[in-house]
Amino acid sequence: MRISITDRCNLRCTYCMPEEGIEKVDRSEILREDEILRICRIATGLGIKKFKITGGEPLVRGCCKGLVRKIKELPGCEQVTMTTNGQLLAENLDELADAGIDGINISMDTLREDRYRQITRTGDLKRPLDAIDACMKRGIKTKINCLLQRGVNDDEITDLAEFALGRGIDIRFIELMPIGFADEDKCVGSDEVMDVLRRAYPEIEPDSSTHGNGPAVYYRVPGRSGGIGLISSIHGRFCSGCNRIRLTSMGFVKPCLCYDDGINLKPYLAGTDNELAEELSKAVQNKPKQHCFENVSAVDHHAMAEIGG
Ligand code: SAM
Ligand code: SF4
Repeated sequence: MRISITDRCNLRCTYCMPEEGIEKVDRSEILREDEILRICRIATGLGIKKFKITGGEPLVRGCCKGLVRKIKELPGCEQVTMTTNGQLLAENLDELADAGIDGINISMDTLREDRYRQITRTGDLKRPLDAIDACMKRGIKTKINCLLQRGVNDDEITDLAEFALGRGIDIRFIELMPIGFADEDKCVGSDEVMDVLRRAYPEIEPDSSTHGNGPAVYYRVPGRSGGIGLISSIHGRFCSGCNRIRLTSMGFVKPCLCYDDGINLKPYLAGTDNELAEELSKAVQNKPKQHCFENVSAVDHHAMAEIGG
């Protein structure tokens, strides 16, 4: 279960938010920490054992580290990981490690300072870079998420792969989805990424070892540690194996990133655990057969920050 604990963010990535930020949801509309925890407890009872904390930017919400600890302590919980832009990570790492975080995905689309600033509008590249080093020193499982955009950062595929392989960590190249403020014409397909990687690493080969729980297809370069993952959100049809369920910061459960529909758990929070469990199961059972990203008019254009990626 991916949980967006806040719709707020300290960056303004061009594909995700407008410069002025998205319309802020009133705090009273956002699930409280105890409500999130209750939903997680019920989820573990239904067999959902792995949680990803995301946002907006999860580290801008004060209760983030406490939540990681409390979810980890739930009976049946096997794993709590986080996706972050890394701006506030280095200074929060000790507490996250103490809380038992099992892995951190750091979103970083470029290795060039000026480009990073252009893509994120307000970000400082040194921060995710320092955070990656700090995670590695701490022995925390670290992955880099890189969203490719044509004409923006698609000339850095090899540099970014080399950055990750040089550190022995995984990097995942993600296809841009027509969600939020993304320009779908800028989507760089995984086939194209693979062509570039094959030229840079002729010996690259599929890696069948398990790197995570998600839809990335991994490759390895013999003699190097660290894997290169491709997340073909648009062109890959991994829907039949999709094990994701998403909880938005406002308590909406989305069976699929692509569609608008889902279940609002808010009214059920006043009810019993059994009622909540029933609604959550319904959301899982109603996962659509496949996404609809090739039909842009059918796509849910809610801000990605609200959904959590
Ligand atoms: N703020 C955190 C971060 O950036 O890692 C967590 C939330 S962010 C919405 C989660 C992930 O969604 C990021 O890796 C981001 O690159 C990705 N993302 C945002 N908009 C996207 C889009 N239109 N298509 C594909 N991925 C997207
Ligand atoms: Fe913030 Fe993440 Fe969206 Fe960038 S992708 S604006 S860091 S929520």
